[in-house]
Amino acid sequence: MSTPASGHSSPHDVYAELTKLNNQLLTMQRELEKKNHELERLAYYDALTGLLNRHAILEKLGEWLIHVQRYKERLTIAMLDIDHFKEVNDMRGHRAGDRVLSDVSSVLRRSIRQTDFAGRYGGEEFLVILPSTDATGAAVMGERIRASIEGTPMSDPASGTFRLTVSIGVAEHCSTDDEDLIVSRADAALYRAKAMGRNRVEIAPCPA
Ligand code: GH3
Ligand code: MG
Ligand code: MG
Repeated sequence: MSTPASGHSSPHDVYAELTKLNNQLLTMQRELEKKNHELERLAYYDALTGLLNRHAILEKLGEWLIHVQRYKERLTIAMLDIDHFKEVNDMRGHRAGDRVLSDVSSVLRRSIRQTDFAGRYGGEEFLVILPSTDATGAAVMGERIRASIEGTPMSDPASGTFRLTVSIGVAEHCSTDDEDLIVSRADAALYRAKAMGRNRVEIAPCPA
């Protein structure tokens, strides 16, 4: 703090110095808040697609399963996997592959309701949570996404546009479900969609 030659600070100087310090503190606090916000974004969102990351979408599913079990509501999930994605990487390069992941994510984001959640579950696999939706409703949404991706030209800067398809497995919450069970039934339905020729939506039944 600056002091006059006499060694005493005037009240005016002290006040000015305190105001300056206070402003510096406010700036630092704002920067810290911005950094925290950025850290939160990095912890919850996938950098390439902007969707929830695997950790975040599974956490969301866990929370929703507790909710639907408690209130006896319906909930369905959909597991989506890009068909023959390895070929995109192999034939067009990883940058084109990354671009496809981002384009597919945009279609996904546009196709779901505001109350639904979409996340990147793995490399080219996506998980969608549809609260208050049964398997029939989710299959309608799945079919809309499937058709939309089939009809969306994907861009490859090197060779123009190309087409792509996805396969989707749908599983409704059943009374005995936990997180692992519902995800593995959606996975099994997805596997069936692949085995039946890809570019289709399959629904998993509840266990008998
Ligand atoms: P299928 O129709 O059976 O799903 O065939 P596929 O080729 O899509 O499946 P496979 O599991 O064999 O290949 C997935 C590929 O996804 C392999 C991997 O290199 C690629 N991949 C995973 N993560 C990323 C990523 O972040 N960027 C890019 N460009 N490729 C990725
Ligand atoms: Mg896959
Ligand atoms: Mg695939």
